[in-house]
Amino acid sequence: MSTNEILTPRQKFIAAANRSKILLNKCKNCGHMMLETVIYCEKCYHKNFESTEVDGIGSVETYTIQSVAPEGFEDVESYAWVVFKLDNILLRTSGFLPGIMKPEDLPLKTRVRVVGFNHIHGLVLEKTIQ
Ligand SMILES: [Zn+2]
Repeated sequence: MSTNEILTPRQKFIAAANRSKILLNKCKNCGHMMLETVIYCEKCYHKNFESTEVDGIGSVETYTIQSVAPEGFEDVESYAWVVFKLDNILLRTSGFLPGIMKPEDLPLKTRVRVVGFNHIHGLVLEKTIQ
């Protein structure tokens, strides 16, 4: 990919995820940070944003274990859809954590980090070494 090619927001998000970062939209007026591409700031209704990156690391808040892989997920036996709270900012996001078979494998507050992006699964997570 040439360096002067203009990336779509999705491509930028994926590139950030591959560097263990989460790409956010930051309101230029009030600094409020949002995950999604939005038209207006949720807080102050301004329309100007800049991209910013935060470390894709945080703590598990809730999750659902999927032990029967649906179509498109045949490459993993068991995984969890994890909602985790990013460190330092008041944002939650979700990702895919392979190898989780039972609740004992993933206590709440477990530290996880983004390790990449899968075109089927979305953000790919791993447990950090405690
Ligand atoms: Zn704002």
